[in-house]
Amino acid sequence: MPPIPGSGLAKGLAVTLRTMTRKTVTEQYPDAQPELPPRTRGVIGLFEENCTVCMLCARECPDWCIYIDSHKETVPPAVEGGRERSRNVLDRFAIDFSLCMYCGICIEVCPFDALFWSPEFEYAETDIHELTHERDKLREWMWTVPSPPALDPAAEEPKELAAARKAADKLAAAQQPPAPAAPTEGES
Ligand code: SF4
Ligand code: SF4
Repeated sequence: MPPIPGSGLAKGLAVTLRTMTRKTVTEQYPDAQPELPPRTRGVIGLFEENCTVCMLCARECPDWCIYIDSHKETVPPAVEGGRERSRNVLDRFAIDFSLCMYCGICIEVCPFDALFWSPEFEYAETDIHELTHERDKLREWMWTVPSPPALDPAAEEPKELAAARKAADKLAAAQQPPAPAAPTEGES
């Protein structure tokens, strides 16, 4: 049976009308920022105070895109007569984001909580060399890392919090001025 003249046009118009009334799914980026999940893997931040230069992250990175340089420093003994200790001092920490595949292994394996995901993703460059972020830039990303989710009110207190509170209480007690001595008999 030959098609009815104009039926194709009618079908096309029906599709247009149907889609016009639906909610659009097109993102108008960069005019409108996308709504990202809070734990989005955008870029990696380094909290270098926590880094002990243990090299675990660099060793476990499947892409070998973490570069760390350090040197050893001798620390005087903590008590008189004790032994000198040596510690690693960080000289360079860089991540090449042109190689990184955002697997998150470095963040997972860091035993000292020195690496964090930030949801920032707008760091495209026209020169690929600029995608190697050195420690200062990695540190800047730290300030874009969202706070950890609130603890469940019914959960047991984490042992780190309990230990920190105990240490703070001990320090506060040590800084308290000594109580004035009670007056002895005969004193006016
Ligand atoms: S996210 Fe994965 S690929 Fe990227 S630096 Fe970390 S371990 Fe390497
Ligand atoms: S695993 Fe953590 S502490 Fe060890 S070198 Fe990497 S960032 Fe530093």
